[in-house]
Amino acid sequence: MKWFEKCESRPRRTEFLVFGQPDLREDDERLILECLRSRWIGQGPRVESFEEEFRAYQGVGHAVAVNSCTAAMHLALITAGAGPGDEVITSSLTFCSTANVIVHVGATPVLVDVEPGSMNLDPAAVEAAVTSRTRAIIPVHFAGRPVRMAEILDIARPRGISVISDAAHAIETEIDGTRVGALGDAVAFSFYVTKNLTTGEGGMLTTSRADWASSWRQLRLHGLSRDAWKRYGSSGRARYECVAPGYKYNMTDLEAALGLAQLRRLEQGAKRREEVWSLYDEALADLPVERPQPPDPKTRHARHLYPVLLDLEKLRADRDEVIEQLRAENIGTGIHFVAVHLHPYYRERFALQPESFPHASRISERTMSLPLSSALTDEDVADVVGSLRRVLGRLAV
Ligand SMILES: *Cc1c(COP(=O)(O)O)cnc(C)c1O
Repeated sequence: MKWFEKCESRPRRTEFLVFGQPDLREDDERLILECLRSRWIGQGPRVESFEEEFRAYQGVGHAVAVNSCTAAMHLALITAGAGPGDEVITSSLTFCSTANVIVHVGATPVLVDVEPGSMNLDPAAVEAAVTSRTRAIIPVHFAGRPVRMAEILDIARPRGISVISDAAHAIETEIDGTRVGALGDAVAFSFYVTKNLTTGEGGMLTTSRADWASSWRQLRLHGLSRDAWKRYGSSGRARYECVAPGYKYNMTDLEAALGLAQLRRLEQGAKRREEVWSLYDEALADLPVERPQPPDPKTRHARHLYPVLLDLEKLRADRDEVIEQLRAENIGTGIHFVAVHLHPYYRERFALQPESFPHASRISERTMSLPLSSALTDEDVADVVGSLRRVLGRLAV
């Protein structure tokens, strides 16, 4: 009997396994405590250190910390000059905030379908969607798998269209040895609780453009002159000036302390998620599910999500029922995503039809993400595998 078949006879888990639980350890506590004891808990030197270490990790010119990936994408669209009358192209298979920020700047979101295998936006669909009003493209590196950026940049560059990546899933992602933080005009990262690196809430923007970075530093803190965060410190000036109607999007040192500890363990976490990924690949091979396709050679997949597509023709239940039955076994799962065009606001305001996005619509109906946190123990993985095999066994037609 194979190891994954043996998992089926494990007793039901007693404690609920939370999907996307953060991997928090002693050094996280130590750095946060040091920050607390320093009495400087707002934006300060730790934010600067975190930016510098993140910038070096991505191998890019500038990194600017903000309080979410959503804020990051909003600022990037502002510097790209996107506004009323403009169109911004993005993937339909993403979190709603990728589209929301386009609405925030007054531009029109233009959603395109994904490729069925990679689940990333299809460069051919992007090309077909470009018009004279297209101001920016927001490729989303779904689950941590890189978008075919060379093709996207070839479409954008000659037309003067900005490329702003949503890299919420993709901190470790590489194409030909280059991290995605160094590709395109701006790249937005998320440090939300479930992400590969967490600060509780947080985000980062990277760019090779000094003018964009400088503009973000100002806009993230009310549009104050650049060093205004130092205004209460010994080296700062108490007087400051507001030079633009900016936002309250800055990161705090408490969050950056956690970010620094997390960043220094990033590769360790990636290694663990790769192990869990391989275990799932093995354990699910004979089940009525489509597993994620292997990463393309010459790329690195950040292994943020392990989304499986349920073979609904072979099951007596829909996806939501499978999730309910796993919950009853104390296993938490996620849905990534119900596509943007299926949400009421976008469906109604832009009169979108599911048939216009056949691949994203199909994925939305059948996708289910298994826990893939680096905090998972071997016991946790065995629980997920055992419960999934039992549930799908019960529901098989
Ligand atoms: C999590 C996520 C976001 C939003 O990140 P926040 O930091 O919570 O703003 C955006 N896009 C995708 C694809 C995400 O998964």
